[in-house]
Amino acid sequence: MKVLVINAGSSSLKYQLMDPDTGVVLAKGLCERIGIDGKFTYKPQIEGKETLKAVDVAMPTHSEAIQAVLNALVDPKNGVIGSMKEIDAVGHRVVHGGEAFNKSVRIDDKVMAAIEECVPLAPLHNPANITGIRACEKVMPNVPMVAVFDTAFHQTMPAKAFTYALPYEYYKNDKVRRYGFHGTSHKYVTERAAAMLGKPAAELKIITCHLGNGSSVTAVDGGKSVDTSMGFTPLAGLPMGTRSGDLDAGILQFLMNKYKLSIDEMLNILNKKSGVQGISEVSSDFRDLEEAAKAGNQQAQLALDTFQYGVKKLIGSYAAAMGGVDAIVFTAGVGENDAATRMAVASDLDFMGVKMDAAANNVRGKETVISTADSKVKVLLIPTDEELMIAKDTAALCK
Ligand code: ADP
Repeated sequence: MKVLVINAGSSSLKYQLMDPDTGVVLAKGLCERIGIDGKFTYKPQIEGKETLKAVDVAMPTHSEAIQAVLNALVDPKNGVIGSMKEIDAVGHRVVHGGEAFNKSVRIDDKVMAAIEECVPLAPLHNPANITGIRACEKVMPNVPMVAVFDTAFHQTMPAKAFTYALPYEYYKNDKVRRYGFHGTSHKYVTERAAAMLGKPAAELKIITCHLGNGSSVTAVDGGKSVDTSMGFTPLAGLPMGTRSGDLDAGILQFLMNKYKLSIDEMLNILNKKSGVQGISEVSSDFRDLEEAAKAGNQQAQLALDTFQYGVKKLIGSYAAAMGGVDAIVFTAGVGENDAATRMAVASDLDFMGVKMDAAANNVRGKETVISTADSKVKVLLIPTDEELMIAKDTAALCK
Protein backbone atom coordinates (compact mmCIF):
# COMPACT_ATOMS: atom_id res chain seq x y z
CA MET A 1 0.00 0.00 0.00
CA LYS A 2 1.18 3.56 -0.73
CA VAL A 3 -0.05 6.58 1.20
CA LEU A 4 0.54 10.24 0.36
CA VAL A 5 0.86 12.30 3.56
CA ILE A 6 0.01 15.98 3.26
CA ASN A 7 0.68 18.74 5.80
CA ALA A 8 -0.76 21.94 4.34
CA GLY A 9 0.03 25.40 5.70
CA SER A 10 -1.31 28.72 4.48
CA SER A 11 1.41 29.19 1.84
CA SER A 12 3.29 25.90 2.06
CA LEU A 13 2.61 22.18 1.73
CA LYS A 14 4.82 19.32 2.94
CA TYR A 15 4.36 15.89 1.41
CA GLN A 16 5.65 12.34 1.74
CA LEU A 17 4.80 9.23 -0.22
CA MET A 18 5.37 6.13 1.87
CA ASP A 19 4.54 2.53 2.55
CA PRO A 20 2.82 2.53 5.95
CA ASP A 21 3.60 -1.14 6.59
CA THR A 22 7.35 -0.93 6.11
CA GLY A 23 7.81 2.79 6.83
CA VAL A 24 9.80 3.06 3.59
CA VAL A 25 9.60 6.59 2.16
CA LEU A 26 9.57 6.76 -1.65
CA ALA A 27 9.73 10.54 -1.97
CA LYS A 28 9.19 13.65 0.08
CA GLY A 29 9.37 17.38 -0.35
CA LEU A 30 7.87 20.77 0.03
CA CYS A 31 5.87 23.35 -1.91
CA GLU A 32 6.61 26.86 -0.69
CA ARG A 33 5.40 30.36 -1.46
CA ILE A 34 2.04 29.08 -2.79
CA GLY A 35 0.10 32.08 -4.12
CA ILE A 36 3.35 34.08 -4.34
CA ASP A 37 6.17 32.86 -6.60
CA GLY A 38 5.90 29.06 -6.10
CA LYS A 39 9.05 27.12 -5.11
CA PHE A 40 9.01 23.33 -5.43
CA THR A 41 11.30 20.84 -3.72
CA TYR A 42 11.24 17.11 -4.48
CA LYS A 43 13.49 14.52 -2.83
CA PRO A 44 13.10 11.00 -4.24
CA GLN A 45 14.48 8.41 -1.81
CA ILE A 46 15.43 5.96 -4.55
CA GLU A 47 19.01 5.71 -5.81
CA GLY A 48 19.67 7.33 -9.17
CA LYS A 49 16.68 9.68 -9.09
CA GLU A 50 17.38 13.39 -9.10
CA THR A 51 16.42 15.87 -6.41
CA LEU A 52 14.74 19.17 -7.27
CA LYS A 53 15.52 22.01 -4.88
CA ALA A 54 13.32 25.12 -4.66
CA VAL A 55 12.71 25.25 -8.40
CA ASP A 56 10.22 27.76 -9.83
CA VAL A 57 6.80 26.22 -10.43
CA ALA A 58 3.68 28.36 -10.85
CA MET A 59 1.42 27.60 -7.87
CA PRO A 60 -1.29 30.25 -7.66
CA THR A 61 -3.29 27.94 -5.34
CA HIS A 62 -2.83 24.69 -3.40
CA SER A 63 -4.38 22.78 -6.36
CA GLU A 64 -1.39 23.55 -8.60
CA ALA A 65 0.91 22.62 -5.71
CA ILE A 66 -0.72 19.16 -5.38
CA GLN A 67 -0.60 18.79 -9.18
CA ALA A 68 3.15 19.59 -9.10
CA VAL A 69 3.63 16.89 -6.44
CA LEU A 70 1.78 14.31 -8.56
CA ASN A 71 3.67 15.31 -11.71
CA ALA A 72 6.98 14.80 -9.91
CA LEU A 73 5.92 11.47 -8.40
CA VAL A 74 4.96 10.01 -11.82
CA ASP A 75 7.67 11.75 -13.85
CA PRO A 76 9.08 9.16 -16.33
CA LYS A 77 12.69 10.00 -15.42
CA ASN A 78 12.74 10.97 -11.74
CA GLY A 79 9.36 9.74 -10.54
CA VAL A 80 8.94 6.92 -8.01
CA ILE A 81 5.63 5.44 -9.19
CA GLY A 82 4.28 4.48 -12.61
CA SER A 83 0.95 6.26 -12.33
CA MET A 84 -1.31 8.11 -9.92
CA LYS A 85 -3.36 4.92 -9.54
CA GLU A 86 -0.63 3.57 -7.27
CA ILE A 87 -1.55 6.11 -4.58
CA ASP A 88 -4.04 4.16 -2.46
CA ALA A 89 -4.97 6.91 0.00
CA VAL A 90 -4.09 10.39 1.22
CA GLY A 91 -3.57 11.26 4.90
CA HIS A 92 -3.99 14.91 5.89
CA ARG A 93 -2.62 16.48 9.02
CA VAL A 94 -5.33 18.66 10.58
CA VAL A 95 -4.35 20.77 13.58
CA HIS A 96 -7.64 21.11 15.46
CA GLY A 97 -10.40 18.55 15.79
CA GLY A 98 -12.02 20.20 18.82
CA GLU A 99 -14.24 17.84 20.80
CA ALA A 100 -15.65 16.35 17.61
CA PHE A 101 -12.73 14.02 16.88
CA ASN A 102 -11.03 11.62 19.29
CA LYS A 103 -9.36 9.66 16.50
CA SER A 104 -8.46 9.83 12.82
CA VAL A 105 -11.41 9.62 10.38
CA ARG A 106 -12.21 9.04 6.71
CA ILE A 107 -13.06 12.40 5.16
CA ASP A 108 -16.60 12.94 3.88
CA ASP A 109 -18.92 15.96 3.74
CA LYS A 110 -19.96 15.60 7.38
CA VAL A 111 -16.33 15.44 8.51
CA MET A 112 -15.45 18.50 6.42
CA ALA A 113 -18.30 20.44 8.04
CA ALA A 114 -17.04 19.45 11.50
CA ILE A 115 -13.47 20.53 10.62
CA GLU A 116 -14.89 23.86 9.41
CA GLU A 117 -16.62 24.23 12.78
CA CYS A 118 -13.22 24.01 14.48
CA VAL A 119 -11.84 26.99 12.52
CA PRO A 120 -12.47 29.50 15.36
CA LEU A 121 -10.31 27.29 17.62
CA ALA A 122 -7.36 27.34 15.20
CA PRO A 123 -7.90 30.31 12.88
CA LEU A 124 -4.39 30.17 11.42
CA HIS A 125 -4.13 26.41 10.88
CA ASN A 126 -7.47 24.76 10.12
CA PRO A 127 -8.31 26.94 7.07
CA ALA A 128 -4.96 25.96 5.49
CA ASN A 129 -5.57 22.27 6.26
CA ILE A 130 -9.05 22.53 4.69
CA THR A 131 -7.56 24.19 1.60
CA GLY A 132 -5.11 21.27 1.30
CA ILE A 133 -7.92 18.69 1.52
CA ARG A 134 -10.07 20.52 -1.06
CA ALA A 135 -7.12 20.81 -3.44
CA CYS A 136 -6.50 17.06 -3.19
CA GLU A 137 -10.19 16.30 -3.74
CA LYS A 138 -10.06 18.39 -6.91
CA VAL A 139 -6.86 16.89 -8.31
CA MET A 140 -7.35 13.30 -7.10
CA PRO A 141 -11.08 12.63 -6.96
CA ASN A 142 -12.06 9.12 -5.80
CA VAL A 143 -8.87 8.56 -3.79
CA PRO A 144 -9.87 7.94 -0.15
CA MET A 145 -8.69 10.62 2.28
CA VAL A 146 -8.19 10.59 6.03
CA ALA A 147 -7.88 13.46 8.52
CA VAL A 148 -5.40 12.99 11.38
CA PHE A 149 -5.77 15.57 14.16
CA ASP A 150 -3.07 17.01 16.46
CA THR A 151 -5.67 17.21 19.22
CA ALA A 152 -7.34 13.78 18.88
CA PHE A 153 -4.98 11.76 21.10
CA HIS A 154 -5.69 14.12 24.02
CA GLN A 155 -9.47 13.76 23.88
CA THR A 156 -9.18 11.02 26.54
CA MET A 157 -8.18 13.58 29.19
CA PRO A 158 -10.59 13.62 32.13
CA ALA A 159 -12.59 16.80 32.78
CA LYS A 160 -10.47 17.66 35.83
CA ALA A 161 -7.41 17.87 33.55
CA PHE A 162 -8.98 19.80 30.69
CA THR A 163 -11.17 22.26 32.62
CA TYR A 164 -9.95 25.82 33.20
CA ALA A 165 -11.06 27.53 36.41
CA LEU A 166 -13.10 30.11 34.50
CA PRO A 167 -16.85 30.72 34.62
CA TYR A 168 -18.23 27.37 33.37
CA GLU A 169 -20.30 29.06 30.68
CA TYR A 170 -17.09 29.67 28.67
CA TYR A 171 -16.68 25.93 28.40
CA LYS A 172 -20.35 25.18 27.78
CA ASN A 173 -20.95 27.97 25.24
CA ASP A 174 -17.53 28.63 23.77
CA LYS A 175 -15.64 25.33 24.20
CA VAL A 176 -12.82 27.02 26.10
CA ARG A 177 -10.87 24.09 27.57
CA ARG A 178 -7.48 22.41 27.36
CA TYR A 179 -7.14 20.54 24.04
CA GLY A 180 -3.42 19.83 23.80
CA PHE A 181 -1.35 19.44 20.63
CA HIS A 182 1.47 17.29 19.14
CA GLY A 183 -0.95 14.38 19.69
CA THR A 184 0.27 12.45 16.64
CA SER A 185 3.84 12.57 17.98
CA HIS A 186 2.88 11.66 21.56
CA LYS A 187 0.84 8.73 20.22
CA TYR A 188 3.65 7.52 17.94
CA VAL A 189 6.33 7.54 20.65
CA THR A 190 3.92 5.88 23.10
CA GLU A 191 3.47 2.96 20.67
CA ARG A 192 7.22 2.72 20.05
CA ALA A 193 7.97 2.89 23.79
CA ALA A 194 5.57 0.01 24.46
CA ALA A 195 7.26 -2.01 21.69
CA MET A 196 10.72 -1.25 23.10
CA LEU A 197 9.62 -2.28 26.60
CA GLY A 198 7.91 -5.40 25.28
CA LYS A 199 4.60 -4.64 27.03
CA PRO A 200 1.22 -3.43 25.77
CA ALA A 201 0.75 0.35 26.20
CA ALA A 202 -2.39 -0.51 28.20
CA GLU A 203 -0.13 -1.75 31.02
CA LEU A 204 2.23 1.23 31.11
CA LYS A 205 2.41 4.71 32.61
CA ILE A 206 4.53 6.86 30.28
CA ILE A 207 5.55 10.52 30.27
CA THR A 208 6.31 11.67 26.72
CA CYS A 209 8.42 14.82 26.31
CA HIS A 210 8.11 16.32 22.80
CA LEU A 211 10.81 19.00 23.00
CA GLY A 212 11.37 20.98 19.80
CA ASN A 213 10.82 24.51 18.67
CA GLY A 214 7.37 23.99 20.16
CA SER A 215 7.34 21.72 23.22
CA SER A 216 4.78 19.74 25.16
CA VAL A 217 4.82 16.99 27.77
CA THR A 218 2.04 14.39 28.07
CA ALA A 219 1.02 11.91 30.76
CA VAL A 220 -0.03 8.67 29.02
CA ASP A 221 -1.74 6.19 31.35
CA GLY A 222 -2.63 2.83 29.84
CA GLY A 223 -2.04 4.17 26.32
CA LYS A 224 -4.36 7.14 26.85
CA SER A 225 -3.44 10.80 27.24
CA VAL A 226 -4.61 11.87 30.71
CA ASP A 227 -2.95 15.30 30.83
CA THR A 228 -0.79 17.47 28.61
CA SER A 229 0.98 20.77 28.96
CA MET A 230 -0.35 22.66 25.94
CA GLY A 231 -3.82 24.07 26.39
CA PHE A 232 -6.56 25.88 24.51
CA THR A 233 -3.78 26.97 22.14
CA PRO A 234 -0.16 25.83 21.60
CA LEU A 235 1.01 28.89 23.57
CA ALA A 236 0.54 27.13 26.91
CA GLY A 237 2.84 25.01 29.06
CA LEU A 238 6.61 25.09 28.74
CA PRO A 239 8.69 28.08 27.65
CA MET A 240 9.50 27.28 23.99
CA GLY A 241 11.72 28.65 21.22
CA THR A 242 9.86 31.96 21.09
CA ARG A 243 6.62 31.19 23.00
CA SER A 244 6.23 32.15 26.65
CA GLY A 245 4.36 29.08 27.86
CA ASP A 246 2.30 29.49 31.05
CA LEU A 247 2.38 32.82 32.84
CA ASP A 248 0.39 34.88 35.31
CA ALA A 249 -2.41 36.48 33.26
CA GLY A 250 -2.07 39.57 35.46
CA ILE A 251 1.19 40.33 33.63
CA LEU A 252 -0.80 41.07 30.48
CA GLN A 253 -2.77 43.86 32.15
CA PHE A 254 0.38 45.29 33.74
CA LEU A 255 2.42 45.39 30.51
CA MET A 256 -0.45 46.40 28.23
CA ASN A 257 -1.28 49.38 30.44
CA LYS A 258 2.31 50.43 30.96
CA TYR A 259 3.37 50.21 27.28
CA LYS A 260 -0.03 50.94 25.71
CA LEU A 261 -0.06 47.62 23.87
CA SER A 262 -3.05 46.22 22.04
CA ILE A 263 -4.01 42.57 22.73
CA ASP A 264 -2.62 41.63 19.29
CA GLU A 265 0.72 43.29 20.07
CA MET A 266 0.82 41.55 23.46
CA LEU A 267 0.07 38.14 21.91
CA ASN A 268 2.71 38.74 19.26
CA ILE A 269 5.24 39.26 22.08
CA LEU A 270 4.07 36.08 23.85
CA ASN A 271 4.17 34.00 20.65
CA LYS A 272 7.18 35.38 18.79
CA LYS A 273 9.50 37.23 21.20
CA SER A 274 9.36 35.21 24.41
CA GLY A 275 10.48 31.73 25.46
CA VAL A 276 14.20 30.91 25.47
CA GLN A 277 14.72 33.59 22.79
CA GLY A 278 13.14 36.20 25.06
CA ILE A 279 15.08 35.20 28.19
CA SER A 280 18.45 34.75 26.46
CA GLU A 281 18.26 37.65 23.96
CA VAL A 282 20.52 35.30 21.94
CA SER A 283 18.49 32.75 19.95
CA SER A 284 15.52 30.40 19.94
CA ASP A 285 17.81 27.57 18.84
CA PHE A 286 19.17 25.36 21.60
CA ARG A 287 22.47 24.85 19.74
CA ASP A 288 23.14 28.61 19.84
CA LEU A 289 22.10 28.79 23.49
CA GLU A 290 24.48 26.01 24.49
CA GLU A 291 27.34 27.62 22.61
CA ALA A 292 26.63 31.01 24.17
CA ALA A 293 26.25 29.49 27.65
CA LYS A 294 29.60 27.70 27.26
CA ALA A 295 31.19 31.02 26.32
CA GLY A 296 29.90 32.47 29.60
CA ASN A 297 26.62 34.13 28.56
CA GLN A 298 24.54 33.93 31.75
CA GLN A 299 21.23 34.82 30.14
CA ALA A 300 21.66 31.93 27.67
CA GLN A 301 22.36 29.63 30.64
CA LEU A 302 19.28 31.00 32.44
CA ALA A 303 17.12 30.28 29.38
CA LEU A 304 18.35 26.67 29.31
CA ASP A 305 17.92 26.30 33.08
CA THR A 306 14.36 27.68 32.94
CA PHE A 307 13.37 25.33 30.13
CA GLN A 308 14.95 22.24 31.71
CA TYR A 309 13.42 23.08 35.11
CA GLY A 310 10.01 23.40 33.43
CA VAL A 311 10.26 19.91 31.90
CA LYS A 312 11.48 18.41 35.19
CA LYS A 313 8.52 19.92 37.08
CA LEU A 314 6.07 18.47 34.54
CA ILE A 315 7.63 15.01 34.90
CA GLY A 316 7.21 15.22 38.68
CA SER A 317 3.63 16.43 38.48
CA TYR A 318 2.57 13.87 35.86
CA ALA A 319 4.15 11.03 37.85
CA ALA A 320 2.04 12.21 40.80
CA ALA A 321 -1.05 12.53 38.60
CA MET A 322 -0.69 8.93 37.36
CA GLY A 323 0.43 7.48 40.69
CA GLY A 324 3.75 6.38 39.20
CA VAL A 325 5.68 6.18 35.97
CA ASP A 326 7.28 3.28 34.07
CA ALA A 327 9.02 5.23 31.31
CA ILE A 328 10.01 8.74 30.30
CA VAL A 329 10.41 9.38 26.57
CA PHE A 330 12.38 12.18 24.89
CA THR A 331 11.57 13.14 21.31
CA ALA A 332 11.61 15.98 18.67
CA GLY A 333 14.47 18.32 17.73
CA VAL A 334 15.77 19.09 21.21
CA GLY A 335 14.69 15.80 22.82
CA GLU A 336 16.38 13.72 20.10
CA ASN A 337 19.59 15.71 19.71
CA ASP A 338 20.39 17.54 22.92
CA ALA A 339 22.07 15.16 25.37
CA ALA A 340 22.83 17.95 27.86
CA THR A 341 19.17 18.97 28.12
CA ARG A 342 18.04 15.35 28.54
CA MET A 343 20.62 14.89 31.29
CA ALA A 344 19.63 18.09 33.09
CA VAL A 345 15.93 17.17 32.93
CA ALA A 346 16.24 13.54 34.07
CA SER A 347 19.11 13.80 36.56
CA ASP A 348 18.56 14.04 40.33
CA LEU A 349 15.34 12.06 39.97
CA ASP A 350 16.79 9.00 41.76
CA PHE A 351 14.16 9.52 44.48
CA MET A 352 11.50 8.44 41.96
CA GLY A 353 13.54 5.61 40.47
CA VAL A 354 15.13 7.39 37.50
CA LYS A 355 18.84 6.74 36.94
CA MET A 356 20.37 8.20 33.79
CA ASP A 357 23.27 6.46 32.05
CA ALA A 358 25.62 9.26 30.94
CA ALA A 359 27.40 7.12 28.33
CA ALA A 360 24.17 5.72 26.83
CA ASN A 361 22.73 9.24 26.76
CA ASN A 362 25.59 10.46 24.62
CA VAL A 363 23.71 9.70 21.36
CA ARG A 364 21.57 11.50 18.83
CA GLY A 365 18.46 10.59 16.90
CA LYS A 366 18.18 6.83 17.43
CA GLU A 367 15.79 4.60 19.36
CA THR A 368 17.62 3.59 22.50
CA VAL A 369 17.44 3.25 26.29
CA ILE A 370 19.37 6.03 28.06
CA SER A 371 18.80 5.00 31.68
CA THR A 372 20.94 2.49 33.59
CA ALA A 373 20.07 -1.22 33.58
CA ASP A 374 18.92 -0.98 37.22
CA SER A 375 16.84 2.18 36.73
CA LYS A 376 13.29 1.40 37.89
CA VAL A 377 11.92 3.93 35.43
CA LYS A 378 13.22 3.46 31.88
CA VAL A 379 14.28 6.61 30.06
CA LEU A 380 13.97 6.27 26.27
CA LEU A 381 15.14 8.28 23.30
CA ILE A 382 12.68 7.81 20.42
CA PRO A 383 12.86 9.86 17.20
CA THR A 384 9.33 10.94 16.38
CA ASP A 385 7.75 10.24 12.98
CA GLU A 386 4.45 12.06 12.63
CA GLU A 387 4.25 11.26 8.89
CA LEU A 388 4.51 7.53 9.54
CA MET A 389 1.81 7.76 12.24
CA ILE A 390 -0.45 9.64 9.78
CA ALA A 391 0.25 7.05 7.06
CA LYS A 392 -0.51 4.16 9.44
CA ASP A 393 -3.79 5.71 10.63
CA THR A 394 -4.71 6.40 7.01
CA ALA A 395 -3.94 2.85 5.89
CA ALA A 396 -5.92 1.38 8.79
CA LEU A 397 -9.01 3.34 7.73
CA CYS A 398 -8.66 2.68 3.98
CA LYS A 399 -7.73 -0.99 3.72
P1 ADP B 1 9.50 22.03 15.32
O1 ADP B 1 8.76 22.25 16.61
O2 ADP B 1 9.66 23.27 14.50
O3 ADP B 1 9.05 20.80 14.55
P2 ADP B 1 11.88 20.48 15.83
O4 ADP B 1 11.27 19.37 16.58
O5 ADP B 1 12.44 20.20 14.48
O6 ADP B 1 10.98 21.75 15.80
O7 ADP B 1 13.07 21.06 16.73
C1 ADP B 1 13.85 22.12 16.28
C2 ADP B 1 14.80 22.52 17.38
O8 ADP B 1 15.65 21.40 17.72
C3 ADP B 1 15.77 23.61 16.97
O9 ADP B 1 15.24 24.88 17.21
C4 ADP B 1 16.95 23.35 17.86
O10 ADP B 1 16.84 24.18 19.00
C5 ADP B 1 16.84 21.92 18.29
N1 ADP B 1 18.00 21.12 17.89
C6 ADP B 1 18.23 20.52 16.71
N2 ADP B 1 19.44 19.90 16.72
C7 ADP B 1 19.99 20.12 17.93
C8 ADP B 1 21.22 19.75 18.57
N3 ADP B 1 22.15 19.03 17.94
N4 ADP B 1 21.42 20.17 19.84
C9 ADP B 1 20.51 20.92 20.47
N5 ADP B 1 19.34 21.28 19.93
C10 ADP B 1 19.07 20.91 18.68
